[in-house]
Amino acid sequence: MKAYLVSSNPHKLDEISMLLPEGFELDIITSIAPEREIVEDAKTFYGNSLIKIEAYRSCGVPLLADDSGLVIDALDGFPGIASARFMEGSPYSDKMRELLIRLEGIRESERTARFVCAALFYNPCDNSIIGVEGKVEGTIAFEISGKEGFGYDPIFIPLGYDRTFGELGYPVKSRLSHRARAFTHLLSLVSLCSVRG
Ligand code: IMP
Repeated sequence: MKAYLVSSNPHKLDEISMLLPEGFELDIITSIAPEREIVEDAKTFYGNSLIKIEAYRSCGVPLLADDSGLVIDALDGFPGIASARFMEGSPYSDKMRELLIRLEGIRESERTARFVCAALFYNPCDNSIIGVEGKVEGTIAFEISGKEGFGYDPIFIPLGYDRTFGELGYPVKSRLSHRARAFTHLLSLVSLCSVRG
């Protein structure tokens, strides 16, 4: 079966491609359809993933889409669905510094946070959508550490570790991450027999 990922992020295609079960192929949707404007203005990760699916549903092919972000409890869930848009145009080093400033005075036990990913699959054969959520719990570090990964990885310490995703790098992240968890679960639910791509 061949499915198409609704994303313009080639890193995501690589990351998800590594999780695919045998016989499952993945390509980026813009390889078969012109790019469409997507306004991610939903209030939840799930809602934003659904907007991505709806944008290309008329193509009539199996689709995968996801939306994710960092949820910090002490900041009432911020940046959450605004993770990409927060201080748009600024480098992540500045965005992370700003988050650390907002967390000044907050002790370790109260710096709880999680990466969340809502992943959806659209099956054109019965016009159905399956959605799951993946999470990785952790805390926000007191400083920026590590150069691996992307986005907010250098300030996120996953539960059970004492280093950030930015220091732990791909070997750990590929097992633990919100996206890996969401897509592993989602792909296990997708019935390969009922879909012919
Ligand atoms: P997207 O919806 O997966 O494109 O993610 C939205 C934003 O959430 C990204 O631009 C990052 O700021 C943040 N984010 C999502 N996943 C990760 C991750 O694995 N590490 C660090 N930041 C992430």
